[in-house]
This record gives sequence, structure tokens and C-alpha cells, in this order.
Amino acid sequence: MKYDSEMLRKKIAAMQGITAVNKDHDGYFQPSMNQGSGSAVLRFLPAMPDEDFPFVRIWNHAVKVDGKWFIDNCPSTLNQPCPVCESNTALWKSGNKDLASARKRKLYYHSNVLVVRDPKQAENDGKVMRFKYGKTIFDKIDAALNPVFPDTIIVNPFDVDEGANFRLRVTQNGNFPDYGKSSFEQPSPMGDPEQVEAILSQRTSLAGIVAPDQFKSYEELKAKFDPIIGAAKVA
Ligand SMILES: [Zn+2]
Repeated sequence: MKYDSEMLRKKIAAMQGITAVNKDHDGYFQPSMNQGSGSAVLRFLPAMPDEDFPFVRIWNHAVKVDGKWFIDNCPSTLNQPCPVCESNTALWKSGNKDLASARKRKLYYHSNVLVVRDPKQAENDGKVMRFKYGKTIFDKIDAALNPVFPDTIIVNPFDVDEGANFRLRVTQNGNFPDYGKSSFEQPSPMGDPEQVEAILSQRTSLAGIVAPDQFKSYEELKAKFDPIIGAAKVA
């Protein structure tokens, strides 16, 4: 029988309890987690020629009430009114601040990235994928662009020549992944001009992520959300 290194690698990974989470989910990069931690080296890519920014930002609700989940994009992303946000504001004003905090909208960012190195999923190395991230990682991008200390050089992480690779490090904080240990490496060019061109040609448009058709109407969201919180009131 022919020696199949790929099969062997997968077998070893399975034995070590490595889970490849949503590996190819819509072309989004997900680090493999092994016993609560994961890592990879990514490179944030610049904006597409016809798009203004190398990221889009989207508000999202993920609310669990009595075991039922309400998960949907929040129309406040497009400066539209949102029944879930309104409900939270009412909760907050009525003094129910813990519940309001637990249900509040969360901000996510989407970017194109080059997977420089994925130690647990070598087949991802060199691939251009999308990456969804939250405030912790965005704050690190912001800190690179707007350093607090005057003796720190300004780095635009999205620059192909003067940007820097991003060391993604994920640890487990209770039930939530924690990206706080992630950091940018020293600035370095992404590659030679031919490599850069080949990488950039694989980016995908981000505009569709926040297109109006990605958001339910106020009425649809209300019809979906009210029964969920209604059930909670009875309990
Ligand atoms: Zn909302």
C-alpha cells in the first residue's frame, strides 16, 4: 500500500485532539485549536482597487435566551434602526444592565489575509483567505497605525512592502477565544513584485458582506426576536 503522508498527518492530528474548525467555511481562515490554543502567521492584505478600506466592519447580535439563540446581523451597521438594540436600551434604562450587556451587539471586522504559515494545516500555507476578527485584533492594527509612544515607528499592517506579518495566537478564556497574545512581527516585505501581484489577484471583494441584502428588515428582526425574549419573560 502506498504511503499516504496526508492520511498519516490527519491521523496524528486526530489522535492529538486537533480540530480544524470550519477549515474551508466560505474561504474564511480559522486557526486549528489544540488543547485550548492555536496559532498562525497571517498577513493582512490591502484594499481591493475598487474598495476604500482593507476591512469592512459589521455589527452582530448573538443572544441566548433560555437555550434559544438569536443570531443576526445588526442593521445599525448601516445606521438603520434595530429592534434588538432598542430592546437592550430599554433594558439598560430599566436598570437591567447585566442582561443588557450580555445581549449587546458585537463588532466584527473582515479582511483578506495571506496565510503565511499555518502550523496545523499546512495546506493553507500561501492561500489568500478571508479573516473575521474582533476588537482585540483590530486594536492591535490600530496601535500599529497610531502608536502611543513617539519612539515607535508607524506601521501600516496592510502595506505589502512596509507592513508586517501578524502572529495570531489564540488561547481559551473560559468559553471564549482570547486573541490578546497576538502581535505583529517586525516589518518586512510580503514578497517580490511577482509574488505580491499573484497574492493580491486572489483577494475577494468585501463590500458584499455589508450589502443591504445581508440585513433583515426591522419587522423581520422584531418578529424573530420578540418570541425569544417573550419566552424569557414567562420563565
Ligand atoms: Zn442591533
